[in-house]
Amino acid sequence: DVRPLVAGNWKMNGTRSSLDQIKAISEGVKGELAEKVDALLCPPATLLYVATAICTDSPLALGAQDCHQNVSGAHTGDISAEMIADCFGTYVIVGHSERRADHGESDALVRAKTETANAADLTAIICVGETEEERERGETLQVLKRQLEGSIPDGARAERTVVAYEPVWAIGTGLTPSVADVAEAHAFMRRELAARFGAEGQAMRILYGGSVKPSNARDLMAVENVDGALIGGASLKAVDFLAIYDVY
Ligand code: 13P
Repeated sequence: DVRPLVAGNWKMNGTRSSLDQIKAISEGVKGELAEKVDALLCPPATLLYVATAICTDSPLALGAQDCHQNVSGAHTGDISAEMIADCFGTYVIVGHSERRADHGESDALVRAKTETANAADLTAIICVGETEEERERGETLQVLKRQLEGSIPDGARAERTVVAYEPVWAIGTGLTPSVADVAEAHAFMRRELAARFGAEGQAMRILYGGSVKPSNARDLMAVENVDGALIGGASLKAVDFLAIYDVY
């Protein structure tokens, strides 16, 4: 069975005054649930190093929200995979729809970022998902197929690859697809991953993201081929993050 991952993405939120929430999350994921479910938080990069220092006794993993595709060099304002690993981050989100939209990131760029992240021993959380218009045109599965093919490098391994299905229209809106729609999308992605990567594709975690809350997490996490959650807004408060973690 695939080991679930409950992950928080703080996006461009959080200052030093939020460290108490990170501490509370790291304390809350201790215990027997941690034996079977992984937990991850991706705070803003400015908090990553100090966060790792306050979470040392916890199984909570920490990561970043983006990395550059190059190893180092003249890229003002960017953060490298090596820098994330150097701060004890073990994961990085790549190709989030907000980066695809705000920074014009293409599938090819997301693939390059994933390769660089993996080379630095980071696990990449590769985000895919259709827009509202694409969904209305009935193109959801086509979009997912194209994004998976384009964004995941050849030879990807389950240990270093997580896919996150985040319908763009479900992010921060309070809307979610029906359980049946989530089941269809995740089953489709599983078939695609298995066809391309074999046993590694069967073992890759596929997270659902988009308006996951304590009140809907149980139903969403129970769907076949949903191997955890990527949580935005609800991950900012330790009580909400932990309530979602606790559905397992
Ligand atoms: P929300 O949970 O706020 O909808 O955000 C989801 C998301 O984009 C996580 O990466």
